Amino acid sequence: MTKQSRILPEYNLEFEVVSRIPWFRAKLLAWFSMHGRSFPWRERGSTGYEILVAEILLQRTTAARVAQAYNAFLGRYPSWSTLAHTSPKDLREYLKPLGLWLQKAQAFQSLATAIEERGGSLPASRSELERLPGIGQYIASAALLTLYNQPEPLIDVNMARVLERFFGPRKLADIRYDPYLQTLARRVVNTEKSLQVNWAVLDLGALVCKNGIPLCLQCPLRAKCEFYKQSAARQEGLPMMRVAEAPTVYGVASSLGTCISEASASTEVSSSLCSTSELPVVNPPPVTE
Ligand code: SF4
Repeated sequence: MTKQSRILPEYNLEFEVVSRIPWFRAKLLAWFSMHGRSFPWRERGSTGYEILVAEILLQRTTAARVAQAYNAFLGRYPSWSTLAHTSPKDLREYLKPLGLWLQKAQAFQSLATAIEERGGSLPASRSELERLPGIGQYIASAALLTLYNQPEPLIDVNMARVLERFFGPRKLADIRYDPYLQTLARRVVNTEKSLQVNWAVLDLGALVCKNGIPLCLQCPLRAKCEFYKQSAARQEGLPMMRVAEAPTVYGVASSLGTCISEASASTEVSSSLCSTSELPVVNPPPVTE
């Protein structure tokens, strides 16, 4: 398989799933306006360099940790050119506290060299972005979304977990190639507030719909959440309804909060497993149903 994402056919989502999307989005956005996290790379006017640096740093590192190091990194390495010409050893040493330092140093320098060869410009299409070293589906989506205002979904395991729990489990193990999850995520973020919806899903996944045990009683989505409905039925001893077709044990396990196999994902996607912080919920969001 080539490095580039395959173009997946549109999945025929059930009416019941599609009909819940506007409600899901509205509740999420209301929650996000009160509880969304702010990070330096989410600030308006961030450059392509700043966005891509953040995404690479976030690989397998919590957002809270990256937030602490981010501005210092940009101060030391302010451009693709600086990164391309810095000593690899120095860069590796500098990245050590942020984890996955060998891979990150390699990704930074290969990408910086490739972008320098392009005269410093960043392409504006997915196919061209994904041809660059160190850029896979997730980072290409982040660039298209934040720099070019395209409604692309930031599908990492946090987004996958929230969508699966709310709407029903995916069909394939690898989130990059699951047509149901990809179609669903695209429909969810297909709005003029695409950026905010993406961030809201990621933040809810990090703060409320956590990996492991979700904090459903603090969740604005629980009135229509399949996972919550199932859990409530289980606790009341009611007969269980099937949440959705679950052709693989993997899909069921992931929707229940079990950790997703990193082996099935690319370096980029697997690195996104931990790319959002596990900050405590300071102010539990109000549940309005
Ligand atoms: S109700 Fe629970 S499982 Fe459903 S989205 Fe909210 S936190 Fe996740």
